[in-house]
Amino acid sequence: MPAESSTQARYPDTPKEWFLALRFGAMHLLCFAAIWTGVPWEAVVLCVALYAVRMFGVTAGYHRYFSHRTYKMGRVMQFLMAFLAQTSMQRGVLWWAAHHRHHHRHSDEPEDVHSVRQDGFFWSHVGWVISPQWRDTDMSSVKDLARFPELRLLQRFHHVPALIVAFLCWAFFGWAGLVVGFIWSTVILWHSTFTINSLAHVVGSRRYDTDDDSKNNFALALLTFGEGWHNNHHHYQASTRQGFYWWEIDITYYVLWAMSKLRLVSDLREPPPHVVENRPHPAVALRKAAKRARADFDERITEVRNRAQLARQEASRRAEVLGTDLAARIEEMSDDVEERVENLRSSVTNVRRGAHDKVERLASEATVKVDDLAQEMAMRMAKLRNHAEGASDRAAEAIDEIVEVTRIQTQTGTSISQA
Ligand SMILES: [Zn+2]
Ligand SMILES: [Zn+2]
Repeated sequence: MPAESSTQARYPDTPKEWFLALRFGAMHLLCFAAIWTGVPWEAVVLCVALYAVRMFGVTAGYHRYFSHRTYKMGRVMQFLMAFLAQTSMQRGVLWWAAHHRHHHRHSDEPEDVHSVRQDGFFWSHVGWVISPQWRDTDMSSVKDLARFPELRLLQRFHHVPALIVAFLCWAFFGWAGLVVGFIWSTVILWHSTFTINSLAHVVGSRRYDTDDDSKNNFALALLTFGEGWHNNHHHYQASTRQGFYWWEIDITYYVLWAMSKLRLVSDLREPPPHVVENRPHPAVALRKAAKRARADFDERITEVRNRAQLARQEASRRAEVLGTDLAARIEEMSDDVEERVENLRSSVTNVRRGAHDKVERLASEATVKVDDLAQEMAMRMAKLRNHAEGASDRAAEAIDEIVEVTRIQTQTGTSISQA
């Protein structure tokens, strides 16, 4: 029957259930039998030794191996570990692992097997253990363990290992060995183990913000050989080591480490640095960063696209305005140019006309002047001719005179000579 949502009654409702609940109480009452057996020192040593060995069986076996599979061991060692764990009288290995896995799946939620938050301190400490509600084992959650027949056998006869130890205590150490050595250590072991389900979800500090109320508690860690680092454990269940820092004393881990050196166990798992430092897994961080970058990129692309669209709209609006403006201006300018061309043409015509007139005037003036000059020249030529004619006449007269003079001179000369 599935333990996920037990339909069993919460309180004993049959003679058998009452017997089981009272048997749990009877173990406590039997501790007082020491009044008659006495408390010899060897029984006290036996009590301490049985507490220590069986606490190791609970934390290294039931919890860190069978419930969480945080390290490996061979089949014989696995059987011995289950046997040792079952000497704690905490029911069978399959029952323990199934209920503990259930606790992690629903920590401090309404479905949790033992939650102080949901059902109060007493229930989380011992109530759920003696209640019929969680008597059965949900085999579907421990398939990995149930495939071993020897574990199923141990589960079926779960009292046998404890009864063997009880018998040996009585056989070697007498009634004090049974009462002080076995029963005392068993009851102390029960309540120490149960503090992790109750106190470790109430008293202590929280390094990691898990969804449950789990706490780290130094005193509980000493008492339970490292299980008191319960907040660490709820934060990262896959680690064999529950004390994440050197000062977080974790005796179970130290013993398992020594056993791994002796090759009795192997593949002890450490918490990864990002888990201890409470950072996201590097791959997750990378994926997140990539996702963020992609989102950022998409956002920017959208922004750029929007801007481009706005710019395009603005440009086409401006082009339209500019086009209208330009057409108007071109029209305006062409009117202006036409007018100017017209002006230029008329001024050229005017200039040409003026120039023509001037040339005409100058030509006529020049003609007049040339005529005048010609007349004057003719006059002067006539004058010169007259002068020349006068001069020629005077020259002829002079020549005639010279001839005359010369004749006279000659005549004179002749007359003299004749004389
Ligand atoms: Zn656990
Ligand atoms: Zn817990």
